[in-house]
Amino acid sequence: MPLWPRLRRLYHEHEYARSEHDTTNEWLYPSRNCIWQQRLISKELLIFEVGTPRRTGVDFPALKGTKSRLGGMERTSEIGLPGLTEPEVMRHYVRLSQKNYAIDLGVYPLGSCTMKHNPRLNEKMARLPGFADIHPLQSENTVQGALELIDELADWICKLTGMPAVAMSPKAGAHGEMCGMMAIRAALDAKGADHKRRVLVPESAHGTNPATAVQCGFSIDSIPATDDGRVDMAALKAKLGDDVAGIMLTNPNTCGLFERDIIEIAELIHGVGGYFYCDGANFNALVGRVRPGDLGIDAMHLNLHKTFSTPHGGGGPGSGPTVLSDALSPYAPVPYVVKSNGTYRLVEDADSGDSFGRMTAFHGQMGMFTRALSYMLSHGSDGLKQATEDAVLNANYVQASLSDVMSPAFGGVCMHEALFDDSFLKGTGVETLDFAKAMIDEGYHPMTMYFPLVVHGAMLIEPTESESKAELDRFIDVMRGLALKAKSGEVDMFKQAPIYAPMRRLDETQAARKPVLRWRVPTTD
Ligand SMILES: *Cc1c(COP(=O)(O)O)cnc(C)c1O
Repeated sequence: MPLWPRLRRLYHEHEYARSEHDTTNEWLYPSRNCIWQQRLISKELLIFEVGTPRRTGVDFPALKGTKSRLGGMERTSEIGLPGLTEPEVMRHYVRLSQKNYAIDLGVYPLGSCTMKHNPRLNEKMARLPGFADIHPLQSENTVQGALELIDELADWICKLTGMPAVAMSPKAGAHGEMCGMMAIRAALDAKGADHKRRVLVPESAHGTNPATAVQCGFSIDSIPATDDGRVDMAALKAKLGDDVAGIMLTNPNTCGLFERDIIEIAELIHGVGGYFYCDGANFNALVGRVRPGDLGIDAMHLNLHKTFSTPHGGGGPGSGPTVLSDALSPYAPVPYVVKSNGTYRLVEDADSGDSFGRMTAFHGQMGMFTRALSYMLSHGSDGLKQATEDAVLNANYVQASLSDVMSPAFGGVCMHEALFDDSFLKGTGVETLDFAKAMIDEGYHPMTMYFPLVVHGAMLIEPTESESKAELDRFIDVMRGLALKAKSGEVDMFKQAPIYAPMRRLDETQAARKPVLRWRVPTTD
């Protein structure tokens, strides 16, 4: 168990015993020798509640004899910022940081998110001043190294995917989807194929896929999944028609399964003049083993922040380079890097060719590019392939080790993530949500839950290749323990969880629908 949850536990076992399981007493009083541990599990006030505008953390001498040049525009009322001393500010933010769960603290089994270790070498490279301290508006002859890095990364991506071209500027997976679908839209428009506006989206596709298609002006037609979690080929064939613009398919799909019929799917879609968008966020399961270019794919994004190890979470940063087939590459967005006579330059002009335009202000996420290339070069082709194989092996190890006490959603081997449904909890009174909350008390971040939607009470676990067998064994032990507890009727423990966390159960629906994003001065009435 990582250090902080263990400390929380030690603290709580001590305090909890004293309070005789008084769970109405939400926050327990610290005993003097436990103050430090208590900080880890206690709520942290907002900085506005810690400080007060009536105080200041710095002392400036009053200005004498200066004349304002603001022409009467200067603020006359209080700005309302809290005043704190430097140590108060430091402690506030460090305490907050200690409440975070992090991949650097323990297993982070969120399926679909590929939370894997980010080798510190990548960080070192990304912080080199020649990459970190340059500005996108610098003249090209002063950033030749950075442009070369983008070009070399593009080359690696094309080789790994077996595709002829890549657009580097998209800044997230979903942004890459948008890039691919805009290229498809541009290709259809160039052919005058206005009637092609229907996009097929299998139920096992990621939720961002239909959202992207709609955003690009297409309508969605859903394809059901078979009992073994893959595209229902008969249903797909029944939906084919001249108005089909293409398909958006996730592979491996959100059930963690390889779409066995993918080559036939590509042929069928091409047969009606459509394009094949593949969501490649899960490339971590394929690198070095399968080249999307060999499968008939026209466009696919990669999540550098998943497969190629750059840190992500909390909504960013991301990088979603999108590979394009020969049919789509003329429509790629600007800017892109070209090399001529030994010099690199950025092509910025969208009007000179068929490019659909620009997606971002500049060339993309330089820091992510640097980390990803550093990861690729330090692994080499054999290392990348092994990482893929280990990711799949680890997921299957987890699935096999839990299959007698939990219920795998589908039979057979999985790819990089193991999917369970909630049938093993049937009749226990414990639900997927309770199970996930109980994991927090055991010192683990919960797995992805209730996704994919095609599986009841889904629990999606992605261990990634960066976990050792010992680490996986500890995780498996905890999961087995919880499954057995649920079955032995310890419902209360699950319903109370999490106990060892700064926040207990939240009204998550309310928090998502009506988030309180602004602190207001409390009024007394
Ligand atoms: C993560 C993910 C996405 C979205 O990527 P973002 O970078 O979060 O926009 C899309 N599809 C799949 C399958 C994913 O796992």
